[in-house]
Amino acid sequence: MTATNGINDNPITGTMHLKIVLLGPPGSGKGTQAKRLMDELRVAHISTGDLLRESVKAKSELGVKAKEYMDAGKLVPDELVIALVSEKVSSLDGGFILDGFPRTIDQAKRLEGITSIDAVINLNVDEGILVERLTKRRSCRECGAVYHLLFNPPKEEGRCDKCGGELYQRSDDTESTVKQRLRTYRESTLPLVEYYQSKGVLLNVDGGEDISEVFHSIMKALDPLM
Ligand code: AMP
Repeated sequence: MTATNGINDNPITGTMHLKIVLLGPPGSGKGTQAKRLMDELRVAHISTGDLLRESVKAKSELGVKAKEYMDAGKLVPDELVIALVSEKVSSLDGGFILDGFPRTIDQAKRLEGITSIDAVINLNVDEGILVERLTKRRSCRECGAVYHLLFNPPKEEGRCDKCGGELYQRSDDTESTVKQRLRTYRESTLPLVEYYQSKGVLLNVDGGEDISEVFHSIMKALDPLM
């Protein structure tokens, strides 16, 4: 189902109740894998990046505040993002995949006050691959589908295969901003790997393979929980 408000609520009955966090650097494939997992596991998909981009597009008060941080490759202040996630998570009664949240230890602690988490999938990808993936990434303005100019190109240049919408490069996918986003990841988000490891919920997955292989590895890692 298409993201209309940053939250993909799968309507199929028999919704599973797994609560999953997808962790990994920018470009590790969190969004792509989250969409597949949403269909397979019948859970909701909450992407803080998508929610923030929608706020920016709508020029809401939050969007205006968030834009300067996003364009600089920095994290949006915790208070703004936590309020967003808290509202979305509280509106659900089934499972979900959190994509892009938490990104700091502080956010992880605040999440614990909102809900419990069954598993944290950590997508490991070499930094060289990340830069290549991000700078050649194109997204659909209409439905949010994601392409890669080399590995997953659209059939018609500049047009989305799924809805015919215009493809664009995210303003934070330029090389200089990507480098800053990776620095931000190392400083603020990487400590979460150890944090979740010590809680016994971390599942490491090689995110450097192609999309289907990574998906297969994630499902294998989740198997004991299902
Ligand atoms: P993403 O689409 O997940 O790559 O996120 C794009 C941008 O949104 C990030 O570079 C941050 O500026 C902002 N953002 C997304 N999620 C968070 C979060 N959990 N905390 C702070 N900023 C975030």
